[in-house]
Amino acid sequence: MASFTLHGIPVSRGIAIGRAHLLAPAAMDVKHYLIGEVQVEAEVQRLQNAICKVREELQTIRKTLPKESPAELGAFVDVHLLILSDPMLADMPLDIIRNRQYNAEWALVTQIDELSAQFDEIEDPYLRERKADVQQVGERVLKVLTGTALRLPEVDSEGTSFANIVVVAYDISPADMLQFRDRAFAGFVTDLGGQNSHTAIVARSLDIPAAVGMNNASRLIKQDDWIIIDGDAGVVIVDPASVILEQYREHQVQLLRSRRKLGKIKKIPAITLDGTVITLLANIELPSDCATAMESGASGVGLFRSEFLFMGRIGTQHELPTEDEQFESYRQAVTAMKGRPVTIRTLDVGADKPLNVEEQTALNPALGLRAIRYCLAEPQLFLTQLKAILRASAFGPVKLLIPMLAHAFEIDQTLAMIDRAKQELRSEKIKFDEHIKIGAMIEIPAAALALPMFIKRMDFLSIGTNDLIQYTLAIDRVDHEVAHLYNPLHPAVLYLLSTVIALGRKAGIPVSVCGEMAGDVKFTRLLLGMGLLEFSMHPAQLLAVKQEILNSDLDGLIAQTKKILRNTEPSAIAAAVNQMRANPTPSHKSCL
Ligand code: PEP
Ligand code: MG
Repeated sequence: MASFTLHGIPVSRGIAIGRAHLLAPAAMDVKHYLIGEVQVEAEVQRLQNAICKVREELQTIRKTLPKESPAELGAFVDVHLLILSDPMLADMPLDIIRNRQYNAEWALVTQIDELSAQFDEIEDPYLRERKADVQQVGERVLKVLTGTALRLPEVDSEGTSFANIVVVAYDISPADMLQFRDRAFAGFVTDLGGQNSHTAIVARSLDIPAAVGMNNASRLIKQDDWIIIDGDAGVVIVDPASVILEQYREHQVQLLRSRRKLGKIKKIPAITLDGTVITLLANIELPSDCATAMESGASGVGLFRSEFLFMGRIGTQHELPTEDEQFESYRQAVTAMKGRPVTIRTLDVGADKPLNVEEQTALNPALGLRAIRYCLAEPQLFLTQLKAILRASAFGPVKLLIPMLAHAFEIDQTLAMIDRAKQELRSEKIKFDEHIKIGAMIEIPAAALALPMFIKRMDFLSIGTNDLIQYTLAIDRVDHEVAHLYNPLHPAVLYLLSTVIALGRKAGIPVSVCGEMAGDVKFTRLLLGMGLLEFSMHPAQLLAVKQEILNSDLDGLIAQTKKILRNTEPSAIAAAVNQMRANPTPSHKSCL
């Protein structure tokens, strides 16, 4: 096959070379368990809801087929709709649930197996082929039922088979991406996604080259094609010529070399050339990430995205983590960090991190019941989490971070909930840190513009640039169609960022940045120039940022940043920020 190149959005740096593994929808390997008598009707309902959802999906596909698409396509969808309504698929599995008390997935798979066997008996080859349609419809329903959807390649006995595999998918949910942690794939390519979608963030935390927003990649790339991902450029080369392959292999070796070199500054404190101490913290998704955080030399955890403990569980037997289970996870993180502070952010579900994929009905989820809004609407769930976090604070320094606050009454309600959680623990005679520090994420423009409201009530602030940019520029961070508009250097974004940092410093309240900007070396000097003293990022980015800090002189940077902030011309701003990087500080010796 001839080589071809695809262009998308770079989300995780480096070069990956490997064979494509296309992620197919989850096949029939689902959980089998018996349900109790009292759960039967609920389980029947769950299956019926899934079937309804798939019917709606198919009807939407039918309605939105482009006019020029071949007639067979419409007929193909019609056949699937017919199969879905056939009592053999729509009713029989319900009877299996009622009569044998199988869980919904098991009942459905049992019936599909039964139907497949019947198809195998059919003489007519055309009809026999309809077996595949039945299976595809069944898989669609299963996908909705399980909320997961992706089938990964099998691990070999040594667990080493992934290093040459590039995962190619239409889309990967953040929860699915999380499953990849224990499998060292060479890289990821997805059709959908934006620079700072949570899937991209998780890919970055895995420190594996990735490109998203590639449009038709999953259709154009075939299983086992050779692929190069240039994670810096967001380019994917399929079936490269051998000379190109050689060039990229060479580049890969060079990158590895410079990474090794970075390892030398692991133990050096992050101090600028003029002697200013900068705190570098880690962003984590699960307690097990603390090992890499410690390994990178982080001074603590600046953002523990606790929602990853909650995701991908709906539709399983263990829907939400209990107080004890959460406490165990938080305590694990606190002990793993050996006395370094752990900032635990309360549940930030909604938008591209739905708690329940099936119930995602909001018209505009990024503006909907997300994060603290969700928690205040579900006080029992919130209280349970607060108590679990507070309990962990008895085992080492913990800070509480609240996402998506915008209103004074939300802050007050949150603080009242924290007081209530403390009160309950006191009456249960359970220890916790009475003086736990409470901070707010500044990630809604309204919060940045009404900062005194936060300064008055909070102990610290953490700027979530991912959302701050999304909401300031009114672009969905997950939508690749508007990804080109996602610009951290937009003058409005820079104004909000610099204002929050300056006002926080003036009020003597610690301010950090925990969005992706903090881990991007392109912006390190600009943030230093704004007066930022705390950066929180994925451990994989920490040493590169530290290197930049070690080679920076604040005096010069502050003056340059002031000039940039006065500029209103985006191209001039971008050029000046590049220039900042290109010119270290000539009067001082650089560290590496
Ligand atoms: C942010 O918005 O910048 C942030 C750190 O939070 P998240 O990416 O989890 O929304
Ligand atoms: Mg956010």
